[in-house]
Formats: sequence, C-alpha cells, structure tokens
Amino acid sequence: MMEQLRLQLPDWIEASRIYAEKGQVAHYIPELAKAPGDALGIVAMGPDGETATAGDADLPFTMQSISKVFTLLLAFMDNGEEGVFAKVGMEPTGDDFNSMLKLELVEPGKPFNPLINAGAIAVTSLIHGATPEARTGRIMQFLREAAGGADLAYNEAVYRSESASAHRNRSLAYFLKDNEVLDAATDVEEVLDVYFKHCAVEITCAQLARMALLLACGGTDPLTGVQLVPRRYVQIAKTFMITCGMYNASGEFAIRAGIPAKSGVSGGILALVPGKLGIGIIGPALGEKGNSTGGVHLLETMSETFDWSIF
Ligand code: GLN
Repeated sequence: MMEQLRLQLPDWIEASRIYAEKGQVAHYIPELAKAPGDALGIVAMGPDGETATAGDADLPFTMQSISKVFTLLLAFMDNGEEGVFAKVGMEPTGDDFNSMLKLELVEPGKPFNPLINAGAIAVTSLIHGATPEARTGRIMQFLREAAGGADLAYNEAVYRSESASAHRNRSLAYFLKDNEVLDAATDVEEVLDVYFKHCAVEITCAQLARMALLLACGGTDPLTGVQLVPRRYVQIAKTFMITCGMYNASGEFAIRAGIPAKSGVSGGILALVPGKLGIGIIGPALGEKGNSTGGVHLLETMSETFDWSIF
C-alpha cells in the first residue's frame, strides 16, 4: 500500500486542491487567517515507520481541536472513565462545535461530548497538576511522547490571538462554571489558558501521522513497543472520532470515508486506518462545518481506493 500511496498521492493532492479553493481559512482566530488557503499536504505512516509524503507536508500548523483527543486520553488516565463521564456525555450534538444551544436546552447542562468546545474545556479542567503551568506542562509532555519524542511547543502568536478573541469560549466556560460542570475550586480563566495553549501546539503532518499511528495501534507505539495509553481509552477516543470528530459533518464523513478522524480549525486532520496507518493532513481552507475541504476530499479518495471503511 505504501508504494501505491507514494505513486498516487501527488496526483490525488492536485485533484483535491480544487476543493481547497472552495473553502476559506478560519478568521475568528485572527492569526489563523494568515494561513495559505491553497495549501494541501499529507504524510501517511505505517507501523514499521515507513512513510508516504506529498504536497505541502512541511507547512507547520496548530493542532486546535485535534489536541482535544489527547487531552481526553490524559484526562482518562488521570480520572478514569467514571471521572470523565461525570463531566461530559457520550453523544454527538448535530450543532456547531462552539454552540451553546444544548447546554441550556437539555438538562443537566453537561456538554454532550468531549470534542465540542464546551466538552473539551470541561475535560481540560480535569487534567491533574498543582498549577496551570504544571497542567500545561503535563499536556505538552504527553503530546511530545505521543508524537514519538518530537520537540513540540505552542505557537505564542496563535495562543495570544485566540486568547484575545475567545469571547464565545469564555462564555461557554463561565456557563459551565455556573452549572458546576467546572467545580467550585476551578478558576475559569486558568482552565481557558491551558485550553488555548494546547489548541496552539504547533505540529507538522509527519508528527501528526505518528500520533495517529499510536491511536491506530491501540495506544502502543509500534516503533518503540511502549504502551503510552491503555487500549480501552484509545478505543473510546476513536469511537468519539467517528461520532463527533468531524464536528457536525461526522455522519457524512463516516459514510463517505468510514475511518476515525479528528479535524481542527487550522485545517489539520488526524486520521487512521486501524492497525495499518496513521495519517496527518494540512489544508487550511475550511468548509462551512469547519473541516478542511481539500483534506476531506483527499481522505475520501484514499478510503474509496483502498476500501478502508471500518463498517
Ligand atoms: N481553539 C479552537 C476554538 O476553541 C478550536 C476549535 C476547533 O478547532 N474547532 O475555537
């Protein structure tokens, strides 16, 4: 498969670039608006570490919502399933990722799942550590390990840009505090600060592919043999990726591509083929639901060609 990917990916990238032209880079975080809308790149990595790379794969980007998968895993390791599911539910919303609607509409006001912004902010509040710096440090360390020891850091400009413009996330977080999803001891601004920082972690397609491979292999890094995450937690995270990973376009993506994936508003997508492949994609132009238009088209093409759907 790797050989065929190497041969065909350059053509598929060019075919999918046309879809990137139909999208728009995110503007609500001003710093993200600087990304090149016509870029599209991919790295696919197999369990032996072999890779296929094509397009603008060297373009660095911030993880944004993709980081939510990893804070969820760390929260499970810190609190167990019960501790996490006391604060977030297991269901997709069908609403935008930053929607407030169901928080008030459906009792008891707990976020529907850990991949929408409200749910991810609640999950971030569960990460252990004595100070916000310690909590950010633990998340950074976990992300580095998940990326095979990569030297990751958060992008200061993107972090500041989001923090200065995050009126909606602030209102979500204060609403959660009012509903006691964020508990009495939790400082809302401190949780948000950790959240903005993990969303701003800068990464490349190759690093993302390595992280995806870890999930594809059930939490054990196939290149080192080290089990970083219990299999059960990875199983739950991958289930959420299928039901909620592509926001309110997750159903359509499950039908068309049928593989676990998580997108971010930077245009990144982490995707995987269980046991076989980790995939990292960047394509900053987004469709109306917030997913990379070029990236989604590329994954659909690949999945159809190789019959990857898990269903
Ligand atoms: N940091 C972004 C936000 O909170 C992440 C959202 C996303 O990637 N969908 O709005």
